[in-house]
Amino acid sequence: MSCNPIRIAIVGAGPGGLTLARLLHVAGVKASLFEQESSAMERPQGGTLDLHAESGQLALARAGLTDGFRRIARYEDQGSRLYTSDGRLLLADDDMTGDRPEVDRTALRDLLLQSLPPDAVAWGRALLEVAPRDDGRYDLVFDNSREGPFDLVIGADGAWSRVRPLVSRYQPQYSGLTFIEFGIDAVDTRHPALSQLVGRGKMGAESTGRSLMVLRNGNAHLRGYAIFRVPVEWAERRFDVASPTAMRDALLGEFGGWAEALLDLIRASNDLFALRPIHALPVGHHWTNRAGITLLGDAAHLMSPFGGEGVNAAMLDAAELAEHLTGSSDWREAVRAYETEMFVRVAEPAGEAAEAAAIELSHISQELTLAHHRAYMQMRTAAGSNAAR
Ligand SMILES: Cc1cc2nc3c(=O)[nH]c(=O)nc-3n(C[C@H](O)[C@H](O)[C@H](O)COP(=O)(O)OP(=O)(O)OC[C@H]3O[C@@H](n4cnc5c(N)ncnc54)[C@H](O)[C@@H]3O)c2cc1C
Repeated sequence: MSCNPIRIAIVGAGPGGLTLARLLHVAGVKASLFEQESSAMERPQGGTLDLHAESGQLALARAGLTDGFRRIARYEDQGSRLYTSDGRLLLADDDMTGDRPEVDRTALRDLLLQSLPPDAVAWGRALLEVAPRDDGRYDLVFDNSREGPFDLVIGADGAWSRVRPLVSRYQPQYSGLTFIEFGIDAVDTRHPALSQLVGRGKMGAESTGRSLMVLRNGNAHLRGYAIFRVPVEWAERRFDVASPTAMRDALLGEFGGWAEALLDLIRASNDLFALRPIHALPVGHHWTNRAGITLLGDAAHLMSPFGGEGVNAAMLDAAELAEHLTGSSDWREAVRAYETEMFVRVAEPAGEAAEAAAIELSHISQELTLAHHRAYMQMRTAAGSNAAR
């Protein structure tokens, strides 16, 4: 970057924003990071993520955090199981030799936060809007304050980005799928049969119009999703997350006729439920470069979670943007190059995620999921035998 330092703001301390902050910090580039949550403890960060070697793990390696990642990664939780709704096991992949280890979101956030100076994040700063100034720079407008001027504002503020409107008119669209999230605590000791059912990794089961997906998290916790193809307001009308007993009863009603062993997952759930309508930006979402504004992660390319690529793409965006910014004497050109490459790089995973969302709960989805798993298992076997040669 030029010897005249520019003022950089990153909005959003999710995996993307924090990875970028860490990479810039390592390179000695100053950036201000603003996050709407009041502290790192405001809320649990959610479920488990698998970080891929060529993206999420690569970003952590560039950030010098591979050792720290290995300490929190769960290589032992890479399994997959598929069941029919009457409880028949269709596929069990218990191989743990893959390179897609799971990591809990909170552990990942802690790793990144601890790699930054203690005052690196300005907590409790919910961006309302980015205000362009007459001198070509930008101010950030918060509830009670205004910060700036900044030469470069990077929107890492997720699905409903407040930075995105400066470069794009698009808003995420509802995919037609709603997830109802539930959790099961201390599964190994309190519910050993469910622990066996799910195995070490994730399990799925589906029938016409609905499916169940359950993922093993750290600390013997399971996170489940009941998935429905329904109008966007359906779940809010039908379920009251503040009444756990009613939630369980309503979900059991929705899954009537399923195997008792699968229904036990709902019966064992704790009292925390969440409704998650799944939205996505159009595949190929892009914008015309605007000096001083860019986006990364979900703010740039929100996709359905089926491909398991969202966080990986966000962290790779951060790594690539940092590399361009620190390796170029022209920061405007660096941002332009990052965007041009990112639009191309992300189109394929976004397309795959959109296709997966489109076929979810269709008449062929179980068949395609099975084929997808078998192809992955074959690819892993082929990679293993090549490595052994
Ligand atoms: C149910 C579900 C399951 C998923 N499972 C997976 C998975 O298994 N694998 C995977 O790769 N991806 C998964 N994803 C997607 C993944 O969560 C995202 O792609 C990833 O978190 C994107 O990271 P990010 O940093 O771009 O955005 P986010 O993680 O959304 O972080 C954005 C940050 O910005 C902050 N922020 C938002 N607005 C403002 C504002 N106005 N001012 C200041 N701060 C703001 C937020 O508080 C947050 O900290 C899943 C998503 C969902 C909904």
